[in-house]
Amino acid sequence: MFGFFDVIQDILSNLRTFGLRDVIDIAVVSLAMYQIFLFARKSRAGQLVRGLLLLLVFYALADVMQLRTVRWVLTNVMQIGFIAAIVLFQPELRRTLERMGQSTNWTKLLFTTHRQDPTLRGAWQSAVVAICDAAEQLSDTRTGALMVLERMNNLDEIIRTGTPLSADVIPEMLGTIFYEGTPLHDGAVVIRDGRIVAAGCVLPLSNNLEMGKDMGTRHRAGLGMSENSDAIVVVVSEETGIISLAKNGVLIRRLDRQNLFNLLQEEIIPPETAEAQKQPLLNRLLNKGGAGKHAKTNAAR
Ligand code: ATP
Ligand code: MG
Repeated sequence: MFGFFDVIQDILSNLRTFGLRDVIDIAVVSLAMYQIFLFARKSRAGQLVRGLLLLLVFYALADVMQLRTVRWVLTNVMQIGFIAAIVLFQPELRRTLERMGQSTNWTKLLFTTHRQDPTLRGAWQSAVVAICDAAEQLSDTRTGALMVLERMNNLDEIIRTGTPLSADVIPEMLGTIFYEGTPLHDGAVVIRDGRIVAAGCVLPLSNNLEMGKDMGTRHRAGLGMSENSDAIVVVVSEETGIISLAKNGVLIRRLDRQNLFNLLQEEIIPPETAEAQKQPLLNRLLNKGGAGKHAKTNAAR
């Protein structure tokens, strides 16, 4: 009983000194843990965690049963395990760091006043309609297509792998680009601020093991792009005509024109309330009922 009261007293005295600093402390650690869990779930790290747990169980068993040699081997394995994990996950760690660096807009987003270009809403609106029309036509004619819609993460690195263009997004343009046999039909088109800025771009491939065998490199590239950035990717299959959309490492398949339109409208088109967009994110967060879910999508434009 004595111990119990001690604990209660400890908690109470800690609560008395609990301040803003502790809130921030806990928030930062929680966010970091959340990101690590997300990372583990999305990458091959999930299997690694299971492997590690198994090792721990073996270790505990060896300890209980006093198997000294097994325990010695396991201790050493775990010691080098940390370095091994860094080596094994070098591509993922590198990508994560690159992505952090890529979001150059986040400093802007937090600290500068964002000027929402009023013409951008119109540009994206007509681009989204054109993308849906084109996707439907390309699907009907079984023409493969890959379209990357840039959001906050800057895609200059991807654009550099292709041929720069400057064109309005119209179905005829997309149809011409993806028409088989033309020099630009291979690879992806990148659309920025409602305009085509590059074609024939090479995207990073996803190494998601759960992807269906019926999906080849085009779908893998679309998914990979959505894992590596916040971009939205529209894929039209050459083999089946199926229209898919990749977002945050998830591929949504078998979309028709209306579904695609709804998703794109939700994700891409800036909200009408341009006023809300004029404030930096910090202000918007502090003002309750700010720009809502679209804030993240378009705040840096
Ligand atoms: P489909 O259903 O259209 O056949 P798929 O997922 O089966 O698509 P593939 O048949 O392998 O994929 O499609 C190959 C095409 O995908 C290539 O010709 C190229 O245009 C595109 N592609 C493949 N890899 C990449 C990449 N890394 N970046 C951009 N485009 C790519
Ligand atoms: Mg194929």
